[in-house]
Amino acid sequence: MAGNAADPLKFKVRYTNVYLIRGSDGYLMVDTGPRTEISYIMKQLERHGVRPEDVKFVLLTHHHHDHAGNLAAVMANLPRARLVVHRKEVDYISRGKMKLPHGRNLCLKIAIALGRLLRFDYEPYVPTDDDIVLDTPEFDLSDYGFDWRVIHTPGHTSGSISIVSGEDAIVGDLVMDRKDWCGSSPLPAFLESMDETMASWRKLLGLGVKRFWPSHGSVLPHTKLKKHIGT
Ligand SMILES: [Zn+2]
Ligand SMILES: [Zn+2]
Repeated sequence: MAGNAADPLKFKVRYTNVYLIRGSDGYLMVDTGPRTEISYIMKQLERHGVRPEDVKFVLLTHHHHDHAGNLAAVMANLPRARLVVHRKEVDYISRGKMKLPHGRNLCLKIAIALGRLLRFDYEPYVPTDDDIVLDTPEFDLSDYGFDWRVIHTPGHTSGSISIVSGEDAIVGDLVMDRKDWCGSSPLPAFLESMDETMASWRKLLGLGVKRFWPSHGSVLPHTKLKKHIGT
């Protein structure tokens, strides 16, 4: 199905969406997907007409393995890219370790328990002085040629970030479109804090966001979130 002209470019690394945002002088890539061959990711960039040197930023919505799994390899293969990450996620990516979140119901608790048996480690990446480590509620990317703002949206993890432009937001795992995951949609299947998740939803709705682009599944309209929180 063809998307709207305004839809962000995206490709999939297994079950995770990787978004590509075009700026005035290059691209911003959102997340890196679960561990895979780096050649697959480079091929996807090429398919979208993006050269490695065109990527100016890699923004990590949060440290989970299905988002940061290829971070070290991606940073090594994109010569001009600077990482954008929230300070609260840095300890985990620097060690390549995932903090397991809580499951919201019995089904999800079982999934987490099974997850403990799996290894969610990934190749660590330690941010450099060139990277942008955030600890403010907002960060404007317009100075860097992107008409987007980074918004701290904790809940799924404490350092989760989203990016917002007009009525669109790319939100990582702050919302999910996975009806198959123990009935989770539009709530994230796993999260660290329900209160913070709801506060972050309200924050983005308050900014006028109408389209929520998740890392798992398809775009969700604001009406779905509003229905869920009863406003
Ligand atoms: Zn996650
Ligand atoms: Zn995820």
